[in-house]
Amino acid sequence: MKQQDEYWMRHALSLARRAWEQGEVPVGAVLVQNDRVIGEGWNRPIGQHDPTAHAEIMALRQGGKVLENYRLLETTLYVTLEPCVMCAGAMVHSRITRLVYGAHDLKSGAAGSLLDVLGHPGMNHQVELASGVLAEECAAMLSDFFRMRREEKKALRQAQRQS
Ligand SMILES: [Zn+2]
Repeated sequence: MKQQDEYWMRHALSLARRAWEQGEVPVGAVLVQNDRVIGEGWNRPIGQHDPTAHAEIMALRQGGKVLENYRLLETTLYVTLEPCVMCAGAMVHSRITRLVYGAHDLKSGAAGSLLDVLGHPGMNHQVELASGVLAEECAAMLSDFFRMRREEKKALRQAQRQS
């Protein structure tokens, strides 16, 4: 882990909070080059009607526009949750240097949990990886969100029964 990793992960957590406020599963991502933010994203597939609108994809797209290049060399992507297969694939295509993620995603993580897309020896680009940065806070944001949603649904059912 590098010294600045927690700092940028906190920034990614603040972006995850925006997803929460929009009713989306709270995942945030920030793309950094030379200590400068070049891309920010938060999960918003529901609001955008876009199955690919994951936090990482949004951050990579913005980074490409800022650099005016589809290759995002010398960059580090910070994301609060281990990426899915689609996002891990996009990281290989974009040639980012390094990925730092917070919580592990045992069900669908593609950076070692379910699959290891980034570490596959046949890949033509290898992404450096650090995981578990602020893992507890990143995981708590997701579990708090899902608990809140369950409670909201329960309250709604009770209200319907009473009416
Ligand atoms: Zn994804």
